[in-house]
Amino acid sequence: MKYVYSFGEGKAEGDSKRKDLLGGKGAGLAEMTSLGLPVPPGFTISTEACTVFSQTRKMPAELGPAVDEALARLEKNVGMRFGDPSAPLLVSVRSGARASMPGMMDTILNLGLNEKTCEGLAKRTNNPRFALDAYRRFIAMYSDVALGVKRDNFEHALDEARARVAKAKGIDGTRLNGEELRRKVTDADITEDELRNVVVAFKKIVKEKTGKDFPEDPKEQLWGAIGAVFESWNNHRAIVYRRMHDIPDSWGTACNVQAMVFGNMGDTSATGVAFTRDPSTGERLLYGEWLPNAQGEDVVAGIRTPLPILAANVKPGHTDSLEQKMPEAFKTLVSIGQKLEKHFRDMQDLEFTIQDGKLYMLQCRNAKRTGKAAVRVAVEMVKEGLIDKEEAVLRVDPASLDQLLHPTLDPTAPKTLLAKGLSASPGAAQGKIVFSADEAEKRANAGEAVILVRVETSPEDIHGMKAARGILTARGGMTSHAAVVARGMGKPCVAGCSALAVNYQEQTVIVTQYDEGGRPQGSVTLKRGDVITIDGGAGHVYQGAVPTVNASLTGEFSELMAWADEARKMKVRANADTPLDARTARGFGAEGIGLCRTEHMFFDEERIRAMREMILADDVAAREKALAKILPHQRQDFVEIFREMKGFPVTIRLLDPPLHEFLPTEKAHIEELAKLMNVSVARLEQRIKDLHEFNPMLGHRGCRLAITYPEIYAMQVRAILEAAAAVTAEGNSVTPEIMIPLAMTREELVRMRQIVDKVSAEVSAKGTPVSFAFGTMIELPRAAVRANELAEVAEFFSFGTNDLTQCTMGLSRDDAGKFLPAYVEGGILPKDPFVSIDIDGVGSLVKVAVERGRATKSNIKLGVCGEHGGDPESVKFFHGAGLDYVSCSPFRVTIARLAAAQAEVAAKKGRAGSTTA
Ligand code: ADP
Ligand code: MG
Ligand code: MG
Repeated sequence: MKYVYSFGEGKAEGDSKRKDLLGGKGAGLAEMTSLGLPVPPGFTISTEACTVFSQTRKMPAELGPAVDEALARLEKNVGMRFGDPSAPLLVSVRSGARASMPGMMDTILNLGLNEKTCEGLAKRTNNPRFALDAYRRFIAMYSDVALGVKRDNFEHALDEARARVAKAKGIDGTRLNGEELRRKVTDADITEDELRNVVVAFKKIVKEKTGKDFPEDPKEQLWGAIGAVFESWNNHRAIVYRRMHDIPDSWGTACNVQAMVFGNMGDTSATGVAFTRDPSTGERLLYGEWLPNAQGEDVVAGIRTPLPILAANVKPGHTDSLEQKMPEAFKTLVSIGQKLEKHFRDMQDLEFTIQDGKLYMLQCRNAKRTGKAAVRVAVEMVKEGLIDKEEAVLRVDPASLDQLLHPTLDPTAPKTLLAKGLSASPGAAQGKIVFSADEAEKRANAGEAVILVRVETSPEDIHGMKAARGILTARGGMTSHAAVVARGMGKPCVAGCSALAVNYQEQTVIVTQYDEGGRPQGSVTLKRGDVITIDGGAGHVYQGAVPTVNASLTGEFSELMAWADEARKMKVRANADTPLDARTARGFGAEGIGLCRTEHMFFDEERIRAMREMILADDVAAREKALAKILPHQRQDFVEIFREMKGFPVTIRLLDPPLHEFLPTEKAHIEELAKLMNVSVARLEQRIKDLHEFNPMLGHRGCRLAITYPEIYAMQVRAILEAAAAVTAEGNSVTPEIMIPLAMTREELVRMRQIVDKVSAEVSAKGTPVSFAFGTMIELPRAAVRANELAEVAEFFSFGTNDLTQCTMGLSRDDAGKFLPAYVEGGILPKDPFVSIDIDGVGSLVKVAVERGRATKSNIKLGVCGEHGGDPESVKFFHGAGLDYVSCSPFRVTIARLAAAQAEVAAKKGRAGSTTA
């Protein structure tokens, strides 16, 4: 088994295709070496060695000799020797996994230093201060990573030296706190003599903490470091990071041993990081930060403020950019960046060090970027001839488009953070606090911007959520009512903000303030009408009005989407209940409505009265009388929706929820209704009680309503067909699709079809006949497995994956919030099945239904109308399952269009749709 891969002198044993073996960092180092770029030589120990080490707690036997051999080669290459005082070789030992995990695992610099080699380095460089600085850094880093002696133990000793330097300079160090002292006396100000003291003090600390002397033998240091790098794969923060980013524990990390170059040798030396394009805007220019006379870790450690690389980015009056200070090295860096972009055909993130004016490359990888930058870079790279359009479509993570579609907080505006909650629905919004849906609606109608603040929201709050600019709740998770509804509406929402104590009586909210350690530090009380700003993408709540900037759907964005539409075969529709929703959906490029829910149409004040009358009526005649009052309203809604959709298909679902959802619960409302209906309050209360169900989700709802009350569906079908006739008469084309909810047997559909056909004949008799399609939702497991029979009656299926998930997994979405997170965190379920479809279970049922449905009717139209229709992972699955379209909330249509295009391109190219991560 080969465990060690060398690189140096323009040759490398590995290359960038072996990320699985060499890790991203090792693969990049090998590739840059082969390209002839200036990379300090070294070797990579493969991830396979890490896996052996993790499993057996021992290094594989072949590794020792292989490392010796590679080390000997490295020594020869650089003309220095490990532990040789006259020409000491120093190395860095660097972790690097297959996927980039920035800062998650450990790296040790300057390894190989001991009393003798430190002295030798001082002589050889004629710079004892530098040698001692490198040595003290090494002791601290090695002890932290390999010996378990934490950093802060050393910080203290270093600060003591700083204080002595301060005193010698005439600064009273005792009056300064650590921060101020470190700013007044920088690392570079600590003198040679003091560094000598620091090294002695550091070693003493190690002896005290570990009971052993700090290792002098470079070989012992090396193996200690390699072991520590492998161990770091299993440190807490690395494990947490892997969970968050779906990186398997089994991958392991590689370990890179590389000759040191020094950015801390004086003012002609430096270190820095750069992006080949601006990672937040995508603009094509080298962007980054650097520090003169420093080693790698200093740039990110925050002790010294790094300087801009570009002259254009320095503060007025300053000349401290790399471009100005080291123009030669800058030019080399720019040209290396361009070369690497051409080679990898993607934007790069670079780490470099300059030793005595000469530039060395230490890392390259595909750069992380914002959604906005991803779009711009992908489009510009097509124009630069680096990639083709299909590749560009694959380059942008569909989920990241969310950032582009919603307004965001002005990054330059000052702001006061009040509290943090869950980032439930992206976008920024500001407005006056209101505590009830009614007030939200009233104030919004009066033109005020409001934020609806609730402990939790429920279906009764819908109108207020619609009216508010944003929603803030104290309780509830990512799948709480507030979160789900807000995402559907494309409305900013921060949910589960536990720092809030909402008091509806007093109309106040008390916000507890916490310090960094999570301890409460007092509170702020806000009243109704006070202005706050929420950032749903970050989960932040701010005091007052923080200015926002609007989403700009730039030229590049629409260009990319046009390429996506070219590549895509699966259609994308929207779930839209109102003419306004329909218009929004068209604006986002929806090619039809996949789900128009009719129940929302009954909530208007006038209609709900008629609806209640209908529900509480004792006989068919009274029911029909009440329904006749609703008919014109419903017809008008459909007329407007059909007009908006200009001939695109509109799938209308007939009434689905159980009837008691429409009935009043409060005494006052019941009394009012009794008066209106001319019955006694007691009688009305009895009727309401009769309609109560123990498990409404599985109760009298869906097409079961029309089995017992066919006149309800008859009215709805009439409204649909008359509206279609009216709009056709206007000269517009109309494609209505009548959809039956919650069917489980063929016989149910036969009965429903009879209702529809009867009304259709009546409407046709009066004027122009309108054509329509008749179909059903598949949301019960029985419907899925008997799809062959349902297809005898239905012309289309639409998978209602929300209910199908609930019924297949036996999970109530409204109650799962209490335990589902534990399932996901504990690894029992890979993902929340209400967010991303459960491919193995629910997905199998979808596949079965597709197969059996098509066996009966080969041209049956198949779609999805659950929330999964807007989830990129699920869209990929539906594409594979052979569906004709997905339907999702209007604000997710763009995301679904891109995801559907990626699925198509990836299937064609025979590889996974990939983003740059
Ligand atoms: P991370 O994965 O956290 O970025 P790295 O292994 O890249 O850790 O190391 C961090 C920094 O240490 C590098 O960016 C570089 O500045 C410095 N470094 C690593 N190896 C060397 C080396 N051989 N010579 C000089 N500096 C190095
Ligand atoms: Mg790095
Ligand atoms: Mg349903």
